[in-house]
Amino acid sequence: MYYDLNKDVFRKRLILEASYKMKIKNKGEEKLINDFLLDLAKSLKMKTINGPFISSATGNAKPIHEGYEGQVVWAESGADIYVWTKYNFLTVDIYSCKDFNTEKTINFIKKYFDIKDFTYKETPDELYRKFENKIELKSTKVKGSGIFAKEEIKKGEILSYVDGQIYFSKKESQINSLVKDHAIPFSKYFYRNSFNSLSVKFNHSCDPNCYIKDLFFVTAMRDIKKGEELTMSYSLFCNSDWQNPEGKCFCKSKKCYGKIVPWRDLTKEDKEKYIPFTADWILFEEMKKNGYLDNLKNSLK
Ligand SMILES: [Zn+2]
Repeated sequence: MYYDLNKDVFRKRLILEASYKMKIKNKGEEKLINDFLLDLAKSLKMKTINGPFISSATGNAKPIHEGYEGQVVWAESGADIYVWTKYNFLTVDIYSCKDFNTEKTINFIKKYFDIKDFTYKETPDELYRKFENKIELKSTKVKGSGIFAKEEIKKGEILSYVDGQIYFSKKESQINSLVKDHAIPFSKYFYRNSFNSLSVKFNHSCDPNCYIKDLFFVTAMRDIKKGEELTMSYSLFCNSDWQNPEGKCFCKSKKCYGKIVPWRDLTKEDKEKYIPFTADWILFEEMKKNGYLDNLKNSLK
């Protein structure tokens, strides 16, 4: 799986593959490909510094497939296009050190070639930029590192998301021996870790200011001031045999349990207080256990 190896280097890659309806002959369409690359640069406000270079099955530089290849060099990086005339199929690959609008770019290409069907991939993941711009990872004396607010955060704001591989296991302790950091349970036997986002870097607190909403989104539980550490209570999404390796909690809150407890070991008061912030799957398991679903079924008969 792809992950962002260097978050300091801004770059964006968009790969689009499409089936087109436009008539492109397998000979003599070099100008079309050339114009597309120049118009693409204009549309994205990039500066062409070299090219475009077009290769075709009938030209001097022959690609091995029937169709065209085009490359253009921009001051901001560049773009490639590959056209398979036999299959009415094309690929556009854009790589840039300057941001550009993904949706507008896709619409531009769709219109240019009268695209019937398309698929695309963008790296690094656009969600990362959307959500993690208000938080940062910093080293701390007590816990090694933690996530801090770079600016003021409002209640309900999404701050990060769990984006990694999904695992299945009946025992959470087995999963955590397989992954870097830890994986977050999002159903009774399903876990997800994080490659690209900071979601697994939030420290636990028995008195948290963030929680996981809708399976994967780390969300502010209340308004948070600039510079405050952002924490989640692992007890609100863990209910298994897992224990932190140190065996104790370092949160230092007045309400500290002394160790990270599973949801079932929270006090009745905390369970009630944190119902809106508890993982849906834990609440669902509780409802099943307490016969709530049977009662509901009977009442509907
Ligand atoms: Zn604690």
